[in-house]
Amino acid sequence: MNLTLSDILAAQKTIAGKVVRTPLLPSRHLSAVTGAPFFLKMETMQPTGAFKLRGATNAAQNVPEGTHTLTCCSTGNHGRGVAYAARNLGLKAVICMSSLVPQTKIDGIKALGAEARIVGSSQDDALAECLALAQEDGIAEISPFDDPFVIAGQGTVGLEILEEVPDLKTLLVPLSGGGLAAGVALAAKTITPSIRLIGLTMDRGAAMKASIDAGHPVEVPEVASLADSLGGGIGLTNKLSFRMCRDLLDDVVLVTEEEIYRAMQVLYYEDSHVAEGACVVGIAACLSGKLTGLTGPVATIITGRNVDMDQFTRVVTGQDIKLGDYHLKGAAYGA
Ligand SMILES: *Cc1c(COP(=O)(O)O)cnc(C)c1O
Repeated sequence: MNLTLSDILAAQKTIAGKVVRTPLLPSRHLSAVTGAPFFLKMETMQPTGAFKLRGATNAAQNVPEGTHTLTCCSTGNHGRGVAYAARNLGLKAVICMSSLVPQTKIDGIKALGAEARIVGSSQDDALAECLALAQEDGIAEISPFDDPFVIAGQGTVGLEILEEVPDLKTLLVPLSGGGLAAGVALAAKTITPSIRLIGLTMDRGAAMKASIDAGHPVEVPEVASLADSLGGGIGLTNKLSFRMCRDLLDDVVLVTEEEIYRAMQVLYYEDSHVAEGACVVGIAACLSGKLTGLTGPVATIITGRNVDMDQFTRVVTGQDIKLGDYHLKGAAYGA
């Protein structure tokens, strides 16, 4: 199947009033650093703290008649979106997650009345569990990224950005399973074909990048990262998001944990935003000079705020961080 702009426009109608139309804020600091007008799309302001509420809401509104329970696998934010959408529709929700998911995200899901099921140590283990559950009558599975309604819902982020800055030249999109990048790229490139779309992710476990390079979906080992929301594979049987990201993204750029750490400090100290490591990959690439020939206006999506506060505090106070067996050497901001 092929999604078009009309699917994203339909999603915009479906989710209106159920999700927040988030502000697009100019960043004085990042404009000065990059020499281009630089905007931040604040998806941190969704009631669930992340953009994933858009796709989850659109998909939940479109499940088959007779569905009583929604299930999904998640690195945390999609699960919270599905739990929120289920509660609004009077449905049950079972969210399957691996042991890599931070406790704060699990707590957020339970607080919405959903069941949080922790299975295995990777996103693949969580996916297997929810697919098994979805065999039962009345239980609908909502993929975090490889679902047409989810992709169309995430695409509304792109619509809103271009409604506000119609002459946007470059859009930096955090990339994991590619639901966000696929939807946003489809919206942006249909409206403005000349726009440059860059996907960004961490260099440790970059499944979409490895898959695009290989020409087909491949698996990469999943490890702990400051950008925990970008962890997990794209699914070996990926139907939509792989093809769309491969065809619509102009480039995929990888950043290191050290660059993510630094960018979290910059966003906090210069723009006063609390955001997950996953959100700052675009900023990290700009700061480290990995994006050359950047033409403005530029926008990036600050995708979520559901950080582990202990870890966040360590980052902004310049302390070392342990990520599994990786030791990240800290440094105070401005040092
Ligand atoms: C899920 C997520 C992403 C990546 O979105 P995909 O559609 O999986 O590429 C980025 N940032 C945050 C905060 C997320 O929760």
